[in-house]
Amino acid sequence: MRKIAFTILALAALAACARETVRPSAPSPPPNVVLLIGDGFGVGAWGLGREWSRHLGRDFVMDRPEAVGFLETHCADELVTDSGAAATAWATGQLTTRHTIGDTPDRLPLLFERLRTADRSFGFVTTSRVTHATPAGFYAHASHRRLEDSVAVYLAPARPTVVLGGGRRHFLPEAEDGARTDERNLLREAEDAGFVVLDRFEDPLPANRPVLGLFSSSHLPHELDREDGEPELSALAIAAIRRLQGEGKPWFLLIEEGRIDSACHDHDGPGVAWNAVRLDRALESVLEEVDLSRTLVLVGADHATTSPTFLETAHSESLDVVTASVEEMERRIFEGEPWAGTPRALEERALPVLDAAVRHTGLEPQDLDRMLVAKNQYERRAAIGKAISRRFGISFISFRDHLSSSQVHGHTQEPVPLRAWGVRAQEAQGVRDHAQLGRWIADVLQLPKGEPARSADTAHVATPD
Ligand SMILES: [Zn+2]
Repeated sequence: MRKIAFTILALAALAACARETVRPSAPSPPPNVVLLIGDGFGVGAWGLGREWSRHLGRDFVMDRPEAVGFLETHCADELVTDSGAAATAWATGQLTTRHTIGDTPDRLPLLFERLRTADRSFGFVTTSRVTHATPAGFYAHASHRRLEDSVAVYLAPARPTVVLGGGRRHFLPEAEDGARTDERNLLREAEDAGFVVLDRFEDPLPANRPVLGLFSSSHLPHELDREDGEPELSALAIAAIRRLQGEGKPWFLLIEEGRIDSACHDHDGPGVAWNAVRLDRALESVLEEVDLSRTLVLVGADHATTSPTFLETAHSESLDVVTASVEEMERRIFEGEPWAGTPRALEERALPVLDAAVRHTGLEPQDLDRMLVAKNQYERRAAIGKAISRRFGISFISFRDHLSSSQVHGHTQEPVPLRAWGVRAQEAQGVRDHAQLGRWIADVLQLPKGEPARSADTAHVATPD
C-alpha cells in the first residue's frame, strides 16, 4: 500500500514537472494592423492602375496578395454606401446610415476609442482632409459627413499617436485663413494638449509627443499635380509606421488614398490611374517595412465610383502625355467661377490649358455645352473629364445625374476586393460586408469590448465635399 502511495505521489510529481515544462511562455502581444483604403477603388480603378503601373515598368504589388476576398458595398439604409457610413462600419463593426460619421444604431464605440482604452498606439495617414469621411469615421461623431468643422473638434481628444494629411482649414478660424466660424484655433488647442503640429513633413517625425501634420488647407494634391518636394503617400506611411513602432506597443494604422474617388467623380481617367499607382507604391513600402509575422496588412475600399475602364481600342501608354489632373485644368480655366462669357471665349480659354495638360486640341460642341451649363466646380470637372477621357479610350458609367448634382453621385454597388498579407491573412477570403470587416479587424487586434459611444454632434456648420 505504501508502495502504491509512493508511486502515485511520484507520478503526480512527474505530471507536475510535465506541466511545468509545457507551460506556455508569456503571451505574445496582439498583432498590429495596417488598413490601406482606396476611396472609390473598385475593380475598374484597379484595372487602370495596374495597366499604368505596367507601362511604368513596375509590377502592381496588390496583384500578389496572400489572400483575396470581396466586400459588399451597402450600408444600413441604402444599396450603396458613402465613405462615412463605410468607415463607421469598419470602426464599430455595425452598419449605419449613409453620410453618418461615427454613430451606429447601438451607439458602439469607435475603433480609435477602443484602441485608446486598450493603451495601444494608433493613427492615420490620408491624401484627403483629415476631417474627410473615411478617417473621420474612426474618431468622430457627426450626423453628416459635411460637418467637418465639428469633426475636427474630436481629433486631438482622440489622442492618436500620428495623423498626417490635409484639411488645415477646419482647424483654424476664418480670421486666420481657416473655415471655422466659432473662432477656435484647434491647432493651438492641440499644441496645448501636447501635440507637435507640423505644416511641413519631417522625416523622421518628432518622437515622444503625438504628431498632427496638416500639409494643405484642403485635400493633398492628386498624384499628377504633386510638386517636387511634396511628400509621397508612401513616405508619409513609412514615417507614420516608424513613429508607431517607436512607442513599443501594438499599433493600428489607417492609410487612405482618398483622391481615387475624386478622380472617378471627375471622370479623370489619367488621374485615377496615377492615384491607384500611388496607393500601390504605399502598399509596397508598407510590406517592406512591417514584420508580417506580427502584422496584418489589408487593402480594401468603401465602394467603387463610376466604374472606369479602358475600352478595347485604348492604349495605356497614351497617358504618357498627361501632366495635370482634371481638377487642376478646371482651376486654370475657370478660376473658381462659372463661365460668364461666350462659348467661343470659353473655347479660346480652355484649349491652351487642355493642350498644355493633356495635348488635347479640340473640343466638341457637347463638351462646351456641358462646361457652360455646369453649376459648380464638380460639374465643370466632370465635363472636362468626359472630354479628355473619351480621347484616351477610358469610359465611365455615365448618366445625366453625374452632371446635374453636387451630391454624392456615381458610387456603384459592385463588390470591391479585399486583399490581405501577414497575420490571419487567409481569413480575408470570402465575401463580407463592411461591418464584418470591422469586427474581424477588432478581433485580430484582440481588443476588449468598450463602452457605448456618445450621440452625434450636429451643432456645427456644414462644408462642401
Ligand atoms: Zn465619392
